[in-house]
Amino acid sequence: MMMPDFAEAEELVRDALVWDNHACLPLRPGDHDFFARLRDVAAAGVDVISVNVGFGPVPLEQHEAMIAGLTGWIGSAGDFCRLVRAVADIEAARAEGKLAVFFDVEGMAPLDEGGEALIEPWRKAGVGWMLVAYNAANRAGSGCIEETDGGLTDHGKRILAEMRRVGMIACCSHTGHRTAMEVMEQADAPVIFSHSNPAAVFAHYRNIADDLVRACAETGGVVGINGIGSFLGDGPASVARLVDHIEHVASLVGTDHVGLGLDYVFDKQELVDYLAAMPKIFPDAASLENATSMIGPQQIGAIAAELLGRGADRGAVHKILGENWLRVARAVWR
Ligand SMILES: [Zn+2]
Repeated sequence: MMMPDFAEAEELVRDALVWDNHACLPLRPGDHDFFARLRDVAAAGVDVISVNVGFGPVPLEQHEAMIAGLTGWIGSAGDFCRLVRAVADIEAARAEGKLAVFFDVEGMAPLDEGGEALIEPWRKAGVGWMLVAYNAANRAGSGCIEETDGGLTDHGKRILAEMRRVGMIACCSHTGHRTAMEVMEQADAPVIFSHSNPAAVFAHYRNIADDLVRACAETGGVVGINGIGSFLGDGPASVARLVDHIEHVASLVGTDHVGLGLDYVFDKQELVDYLAAMPKIFPDAASLENATSMIGPQQIGAIAAELLGRGADRGAVHKILGENWLRVARAVWR
């Protein structure tokens, strides 16, 4: 094995479109100390980042407050970042040397009552993707911790149809196996796993079976590899383990269908508090040590170096670092 060449990787990261498809700022709309750490993300060479505005049981009003809070803050930080709603906005951000930021929603539970009416305003506000069910079931479908998965419901189908109409990407991370499979079977556009690792490398309820990886690739979608230690393997997170997950997906479906969705949590205490407060949706809350051991955007250069060191060609590394997500956005966003 060649030694990782950090100088070559650094240069590659500078040239490449680097897209991290999921990050977690604290769900506190006025906490600008953590929002300001997006400056470090930009400095690490990231060009596009998707920031979470809510998950699972978090109430609808909190999702809306986060969208408003982040939108206001991004507006005030226009010297280095830009809220993006379309592929053209990403191109403009890159031309200006700015970090492109958009939003994601983890689970359709907030739509159990309001239904499809919220989707178009959310898309216009900058929500780029939404996943179906966050670990537990909701009115749309089942989550990945459910023992029995009732599949995608009619309500879920209506939400997905509206997402397709307004150009929001459908994601199956956190979602149950049968529900995810049914989302992909009925799709006529790429479906993603924004931040899910292959279970064949490490068995965990949040990781996905090879048949889901294949079904995702068949839609033209991408599996985003997650940097949280709990999903990478036993022991602390490492770049080498993360690259093992990338290599597995690439070996199954090729380098066109794997990317990064590092799931980096900026406020580790907030994560610890959520895990402790929500045992029903986090049945493994005891493994806190690995949950807070994570590979973040700062290590994307090291990921590129590891890939190059294992013999990946530069074109493949460009795809994995961001071009694959751009392809999906071009196919779905309007
Ligand atoms: Zn998640």
